[in-house]
Amino acid sequence: MTNLTREETEALIAEVLEIYPEKAKKDRAKHLTVNDQSIEQSKKCITSNRKSLPGVMTIRGCAYAGSKGVVWGPIKDMIHISHGPVGCGQYSRAGRRNYYVGTTGINTFGTMNFTSDFQEKDIVFGGDKKLAKIMTEIESLFPLAKGISVQSECPIGLIGDDIEAVSKKASKELNKPVVPVRCEGFRGVSQSLGHHIANDAIRDWVLDKRDGDNSFQTTPYDVSIIGDYNIGGDAWSSRTLLEEMGLRVVSQWSGDGTLAEMELTPKVKLNLLHCYRSMNYISRHMEEKYGIPWVEYNFFGPTKIAESLRKIAGYFDDTIKEGAERVIERYKAQYDAVIAKYRPRLEGKRVMLYVGGLRPRHVIGAYEDLGMEVVGTGYEFAHNDDYDRTIKDMGNATLIYDDVTGYEFEEFVKKVKPDLIGAGIKEKYIFQKMGIPFRQMHSWDYSGPYHGYDGFAIFARDMDMTLNNPCWGKMKAPWIKDEAAPAVAAAA
Ligand code: SF4
Repeated sequence: MTNLTREETEALIAEVLEIYPEKAKKDRAKHLTVNDQSIEQSKKCITSNRKSLPGVMTIRGCAYAGSKGVVWGPIKDMIHISHGPVGCGQYSRAGRRNYYVGTTGINTFGTMNFTSDFQEKDIVFGGDKKLAKIMTEIESLFPLAKGISVQSECPIGLIGDDIEAVSKKASKELNKPVVPVRCEGFRGVSQSLGHHIANDAIRDWVLDKRDGDNSFQTTPYDVSIIGDYNIGGDAWSSRTLLEEMGLRVVSQWSGDGTLAEMELTPKVKLNLLHCYRSMNYISRHMEEKYGIPWVEYNFFGPTKIAESLRKIAGYFDDTIKEGAERVIERYKAQYDAVIAKYRPRLEGKRVMLYVGGLRPRHVIGAYEDLGMEVVGTGYEFAHNDDYDRTIKDMGNATLIYDDVTGYEFEEFVKKVKPDLIGAGIKEKYIFQKMGIPFRQMHSWDYSGPYHGYDGFAIFARDMDMTLNNPCWGKMKAPWIKDEAAPAVAAAA
């Protein structure tokens, strides 16, 4: 099918909704829309950040996932206790591929799972004593850990444990920060509230630790990277560009980041915000309390990278402005070569996305640099300020879906017939079995980085490798191909 008109897309949404009972249809209709670039405020066309309907297959995560899995988990020199039953931590352990430098188990702990492994008796009698004991054990086994965070799973909030009191006491005894995070999975409607709770915990327990301490030597070019989780090395390929243009990156939040870096962030001149959704809260706080401005940027694909480098440079003097131009020029031959190689193989291909955070809009430019078009996009846990930013990036009459259900996504794909889908592990095998090329756009499908100029080369290669893989021509089951054979044999 070629590109749909506005009327055809509207009809498609209506057709897909038809299967629902009346109440569910009315609710889901608010989350599906046809893009119209002339609309300034997305609230006029789409509803977001609402509870998923019981009975539909939502792809969302929980608040614990937002705090432990996204914001706190990548801080590499702290130990993050998944406080509660073993499964939440074990089944999410290391899945996000937040790369880091360090010796795991000695001075960094990113891929390890620490859990209080709640049993029935802990639910009945409370887990505070167990938590205190775990903290002492951690100190004796991993003395180089710079701090501890307590990531609450559902039962902790239900049984009313006082993790704040335990943390305060342990912090005094261990002489290290111990941060209780009330990110029980049932809070909010998705992982999004977990991001917010995690940001607030950093604000309350970490960020003011160096207030009034001016011993850190600052420069006029100090910045921090906020909302880059270093998936597959993303923050590293971003940091390179910022440093090459003359900036000093004081901290990375939170991929490959340390507690000390976080404590130093209030000393920087500008916060560079990549994932707006998960870390706008702390950026706003630093703006209010410390007067540090923040700016959103997008390091996917050369067009957006150049735009972003110039936007960031606009906050500094000519040295940095010239630095930005120098960087864009330095990498020009490299990214031109990537485009020359892959664009002819990918030109005109149509993509549907369904991811979280920033990617449903941020990667559009990178696809366009390769001559591809994103014809449908949506977020697991966006708010309307995310959709405000998405409307202008998507073409007119394209599909936008919020908290899309498993059924809706499959039906949209059947009708729109994209050449490539970018979503998560839960969607991957459904669409691959339907014969549609698929890339995981949360974990980069075990590849990456995708940020920066180096990342763009990998992104382009991966999209080509997936889309033009000969396996898609061999999807027909052999017995279907050979259907005529028995009849021939019988005739003979
Ligand atoms: S919803 Fe609760 S039980 Fe489920 S993963 Fe999240 S914290 Fe764990």
